[in-house]
Amino acid sequence: MRKYVIMGVQGSGKGTQSQLLAADLDLVHISVGDIFRWNVQNHTKIGAQVRRVMAAGELVGDDLVESVVRDRLTGHDWNYGFIIDGFPRNCRQAEFFVESYDIDGVIALDLPDSEVRRRVLSRRVCEGCGINYNLIDSSPAVPGQCDACGGQLTTREDDTDEALAVRLRDYHEKTTQVLDLFRRKEYVISVDARPPAEAVQAEIRQQLGLPRREEARSA
Ligand code: AMP
Repeated sequence: MRKYVIMGVQGSGKGTQSQLLAADLDLVHISVGDIFRWNVQNHTKIGAQVRRVMAAGELVGDDLVESVVRDRLTGHDWNYGFIIDGFPRNCRQAEFFVESYDIDGVIALDLPDSEVRRRVLSRRVCEGCGINYNLIDSSPAVPGQCDACGGQLTTREDDTDEALAVRLRDYHEKTTQVLDLFRRKEYVISVDARPPAEAVQAEIRQQLGLPRREEARSA
């Protein structure tokens, strides 16, 4: 059983890296942002509560976030463990989390703000299957259309200059304190998020002491 947290500023590849790790290790990938986006798209009560906050790039209130995370983790569909992305985002959330779960490692993806802007403003998401594209280095074969399911590609409502500025400020103010808290418990590995996704994944695995992907598959 492995329990990981992945942290990093928007556009640092948390979703991609989580999915790569989860697929090989049979972990459940839990993205708090995806859970909220699902609620917004499906017009649930939670969706109505968070829609405006999310579109402005602000953080959802801690009580709601904690109850969503608690509900998701009590689902117990994670026999081999989980990797949680987008949580915790401040010290209160981190304290709630370390009190409730033993964490095996925190992966911190490092990306300079200039690169964050470049990546986030060129990000497109498939409305059908949720795959992320980047118009800089992973454009779809047909513009505006998902390679995997043919769905329409759209821009996330919070991937704007204004919302990004708010999210970056929040990240530097609050999330950095979370990393300091985890660092005191010696959980944290730091990884440069600038290289291609496969290279970042290899570095994560090496630092966590996990087998390389090819070895994991043939074992
Ligand atoms: P993300 O996909 O992780 O960038 O999250 C998208 C949005 O969901 C954030 O900008 C917040 O509005 C909300 N959100 C996701 N995770 C959290 C969290 N741990 N605490 C507060 N708000 C969150």
